[in-house]
Amino acid sequence: MGLESSVSQPFLATRLDEVINWGRKFSMWPMPFGTACCAIEFMGVVSGRFDISRFGAELVRFSPRQADLLLVMGTITQKQAPVLKQIYDQMPNPKWVVSMGACASSGGFYDNYSVVQGIDEIIPVDVYVAGCPPRPENVLGAVVKIMEKISAEKAADWR
Ligand code: SF4
Repeated sequence: MGLESSVSQPFLATRLDEVINWGRKFSMWPMPFGTACCAIEFMGVVSGRFDISRFGAELVRFSPRQADLLLVMGTITQKQAPVLKQIYDQMPNPKWVVSMGACASSGGFYDNYSVVQGIDEIIPVDVYVAGCPPRPENVLGAVVKIMEKISAEKAADWR
C-alpha cells in the first residue's frame, strides 16, 4: 500500500486481496474445543492481561457454523474423534486450526489405545502450540502465525 500525495485528493493504491486479507486477519472468530486443563489456560488468553481482542479475535463462538478458527485444547479420546471431525466439517471455509498443547498435538503422556495420538490424525492443523499447558503468550503467537498465513493468501487461491 502506498499513499500518493502529489495529487489534489490523496488516495491509497493497493491490491484487492491485500485489503480483504487485512480485514480477514483482524476478524477471526475462534471456537474453543476444550476437553482438559489446556482449556483453563485459554481463559487467560481471552482475559484482560493477555487480551486476544488486541488481535481482533475476541468474538468466541460456540457454534462451528459461526467460527473460522478452531482451537483444540486438551486430550482427544477415540470416542471424541468423530465429534471433533464433525465440528471441523461444519465450519465454513476459509478456516484454520490451532492444536494447543502436548495432548492435542501428540496425545501427550496418554500413550494408550483410547487416546488420539495427535489431532492431525483426524483434521488438518495449521499451527501447533508446544507446552503442558502452553503459556497464553504462546497461544497468541499461534494466532499471529495464522494472521501471517492469511496475509500470504492470494485471491486466486480462494476458489
Ligand atoms: S497438554 Fe498438559 S495441560 Fe494441556 S490438556 Fe494435556 S495434560 Fe492438560
